Amino acid sequence: MLAARRMASTSSAKAAAAISAITSSLPTASSSSSITSPSAPLPLPASATHGALTFELLARCSTTRARASTLTLPHGPVQLPVFMPVATQASLKGLTPAQLADLTCRLCLNNTYHLGLKPGQAVLDAVGGAHNFQGWQHNLLTDSGGFQMVSLLQLATITEEGVRFLSPHDGKPMLLTPEHSIALQNSIGSDIAMQLDDVLVTTSPDAARMQAAMERSVRWLDRCIAAHKIPERQNLFCIIQGGLDVEMRRTCTHAMLERDTPGIAIGGLSGGEAKADYCRVVATVTELLPPLKPRYVMGIGYPEDLVVSVALGADMFDCVWPTRTARFGNAVTRTGMVNIKHQRYATDFGPIEDGCGCPCCRPADAKGAVNGVGDGTEKAGKLPDGRPRPAITRAFVHHNASKETVAAHLLTMHNVWYQLALMRSLREAILEDRFPARVREFFADLYPKGPVDYPDWAVDALAGVNLNLRE
Ligand SMILES: [Zn+2]
Repeated sequence: MLAARRMASTSSAKAAAAISAITSSLPTASSSSSITSPSAPLPLPASATHGALTFELLARCSTTRARASTLTLPHGPVQLPVFMPVATQASLKGLTPAQLADLTCRLCLNNTYHLGLKPGQAVLDAVGGAHNFQGWQHNLLTDSGGFQMVSLLQLATITEEGVRFLSPHDGKPMLLTPEHSIALQNSIGSDIAMQLDDVLVTTSPDAARMQAAMERSVRWLDRCIAAHKIPERQNLFCIIQGGLDVEMRRTCTHAMLERDTPGIAIGGLSGGEAKADYCRVVATVTELLPPLKPRYVMGIGYPEDLVVSVALGADMFDCVWPTRTARFGNAVTRTGMVNIKHQRYATDFGPIEDGCGCPCCRPADAKGAVNGVGDGTEKAGKLPDGRPRPAITRAFVHHNASKETVAAHLLTMHNVWYQLALMRSLREAILEDRFPARVREFFADLYPKGPVDYPDWAVDALAGVNLNLRE
């Protein structure tokens, strides 16, 4: 916190000087190590408190860079690595906050852009923040709002001042500055706030614009730090930019680390780049990061991406995909996607996924089986084939898919549970130092034909951290 305040007082002049110092020393900047010591052996467990969080590193995989840790935020502890569901409008489509908590979620996302438009800052201030507004007792992370504007509003333009756009409500010109983004996030009261950054799609061929966006993101971080009014209750994360250029990513990483934020995000990815390029960027950045800060890769949610990114040393992820695809009738399972709308499920009385522990799939007589309702004394049911009758059958979801919102709600519950349970299983494997075996099991489940089907990008990225997937 003190460091953040000290930074705030020096602000943009220092930013400009630091960037010019770093960029002028390229390409040797990558060898600079005064601000990181990623390779220094650290006795575990080890913890550090910074801003409004405590990060406790519990275990490291002895083969890969995977880590297991506990991140304690103002609204309680979060077990890392973690997947964070996205509750865009302060609600996860179809789920109540109690249902989301029942799925073991302890940290989810809200979108600053949407909450800033509606209910708006005055309402958020009046109710005492987004936790109170949505009845959510656990942790929240908010984005800056910038990405939403640039991606949703075609007329958004970026200047040094901020992001200019036309209000979707009345067409009036508006401006989102780093200061305004932080003021909104202060009113939301999220446990983790993100800096406003200048985001370009990674596949942009304009290297000069990419460089300018990366440098502007550093300057905007200084403005965010200066504007942040509640660092003792809300953690501001920096966002490392630089597209697919690993030297630019290294430069940005060093500049961002000098600002000493409580947590660090890697941004701009998941924008259509090749998976091999994605992995190269994540691996490049995580190698430079200090061990006792959480690392968040933004916009990542496919199960394979999560597993590989954890192996590369990342801790936190978010994506709308698992909840969005549920609304199209898709269940995420360990053997891949299942579209329950398919006619073959009309008479399938099994669970959405065999062996899943979610409130839909677990046996109907399990305690608290259906959305927490039930006292565990329901009559145990059996399917005709002898299996326990699940709380919800595939046939029921199929029957309602495309007609009733309940099907989307049930699949959303299953999919969120799947993502959280996957991350929990990775964490347990890291704690017991059997992470490589868990990764092999994950790929074997997903690709029944075996290693011949494994994607090259995953095999190569894992080989880069000493894990031979085709062994
Ligand atoms: Zn399930």
